[in-house]
Amino acid sequence: MTGATGGHTGCIFCNITEPGREELVLTRGRVSFVILNLYPYSSGHLMVVPNRHAPNLATTTAEEQAELMRLTRHGEMALTEAYAPQGINIGINLGKPAGAGVLDHLHVHLVPRWNGDTNFMTAIGNTRVLPEDLQASAAKLRPIFERLAREEGTAAGAQCAETNI
Ligand SMILES: [Zn+2]
Repeated sequence: MTGATGGHTGCIFCNITEPGREELVLTRGRVSFVILNLYPYSSGHLMVVPNRHAPNLATTTAEEQAELMRLTRHGEMALTEAYAPQGINIGINLGKPAGAGVLDHLHVHLVPRWNGDTNFMTAIGNTRVLPEDLQASAAKLRPIFERLAREEGTAAGAQCAETNI
């Protein structure tokens, strides 16, 4: 709760955790969440974000690190299932010169890629390829994230049962 209540004014990620601004959120963990990029580079472009206003990996807790990686993994799996991309860029931009759109609140980008996608955009000149509607992306991806979380819970439960035997 620390992140949501201690929200930094003007920080889109701190304010997105407020009720009523959930349209783009795909899933929530304990200390982080997954959200669609409002200005996607390609269809399905999403981000994994800690709830807390942590500016970099150096200031994250062990729990945040583990969950960011867990949800990044789910992101990779969800994008693969929903869009069957030929590649995925997964990355963190720290600071303006590195291309960070939101400064001082860590986020992991996942961008589905296809062979020749940049060439394709060059070929059609200055026309920006309009990615799929965000509501459509959310409708596709949200159920997959829910299922992955459920399956992970089941798998963890099964493991515990096995060790108890
Ligand atoms: Zn923030």
